[in-house]
Amino acid sequence: MLRTEAVIDLAAIRGNVATLKAATSAEVMAVVKADGYGHGLLASARAALAGGATWLGTAMIDEAIALRDAGITAPTLAWLWTPGETETVRRAVDTGVDLSVSSQWQLDIVRAAAADLDLVPRIHLKIDTGLSRNGAYVSDWPDLLAAVAKAQSGGQVEVIGVWSHFAYADEPGHPMIAQQIAAFRDALADAARVGIEPQLRHLANSAATLTLPEAHFDLVRPGIAVYGLSPVPQRGDFGLVPAMTLRAALASVKRVSAGSGVSYGHAYTTERETTLALVPLGYADGIPRNATNVGPVSINGSRFTVSGRVCMDQVVVDVGDLPVDVGDHAVLFGAGRDEPRAQDWADAVATIHYEIVTRIGPRVPRTYIGEAG
Ligand SMILES: *Cc1c(COP(=O)(O)O)cnc(C)c1O
Repeated sequence: MLRTEAVIDLAAIRGNVATLKAATSAEVMAVVKADGYGHGLLASARAALAGGATWLGTAMIDEAIALRDAGITAPTLAWLWTPGETETVRRAVDTGVDLSVSSQWQLDIVRAAAADLDLVPRIHLKIDTGLSRNGAYVSDWPDLLAAVAKAQSGGQVEVIGVWSHFAYADEPGHPMIAQQIAAFRDALADAARVGIEPQLRHLANSAATLTLPEAHFDLVRPGIAVYGLSPVPQRGDFGLVPAMTLRAALASVKRVSAGSGVSYGHAYTTERETTLALVPLGYADGIPRNATNVGPVSINGSRFTVSGRVCMDQVVVDVGDLPVDVGDHAVLFGAGRDEPRAQDWADAVATIHYEIVTRIGPRVPRTYIGEAG
């Protein structure tokens, strides 16, 4: 193997999308933002499409354009952009990328780009139903609808979707979920009154796709579940298979005496004569520095914990009397049969598995196994 690698199981991605598809009669948009949640944009997108996704979703417009540049023509929505991105918007309209619009200035930029190209841009209007993040605030919604209705009847835009995003989908039963669904229905009714009746109404992320059928509408937007990580861990794994295994070859193995201080600041001291194994992955690769003395690692099938501070490029693991050799494999997380899972890392450092997989940096090569389709 390579010195370090994130092995991505494309068959798992394909299978996870099939699992999501079986959970809904709506269309499935696989969210591939953030380099496919760290799994690789293009490979993840292709595997998701092979699994039955009919749409792709990205945060940045540049991510959507990268899909187009690679020849991926599936309908794609990009939803997070700023006023300076006029040239990027132009490329999006030119390559048929759908854009989210939640304010008048966005409508103006999209219309100007499209007029220039003599094209009709495809837009999805975003309403803020309670997350208070992106999306038109309820009090701004009527004015936005009026402006869009005018542009639509003038043939200047085509409204493909109306959409929103949940604040509490990962806490099934939370009262905010029902409130947001009701606010979304109100926003759809407002749109219908001015003649905006899009083909696609969409609200559900992974958690809602797997636990909340009444929120599926016409399309669901799973992200984390595509990569096999449970969006509601307290409800089990839903049959999803984690697609990323992070592993490294041991770069050094040595026998040390009792009382040896390990790594910067000697945050760990050996209790007895023992073997220290050196794993060439550190915080520059995305290993959380606060995994010091708590991050789980599997070496030759046995479980250990990071011993001492996580350094920029490496961590040390006290493996006791386990026979290990340089070049043996350390697995930080994987599908969770014998090795720790991204969830275990998240629990160890008090974050979520989303952050564990997306932070694995570009210095770690992605290698692909399994047929994408
Ligand atoms: C990231 C994102 C998703 C996917 O969320 P998951 O929890 O990963 O399923 C869906 N919609 C929007 C707007 C997002 O930003």
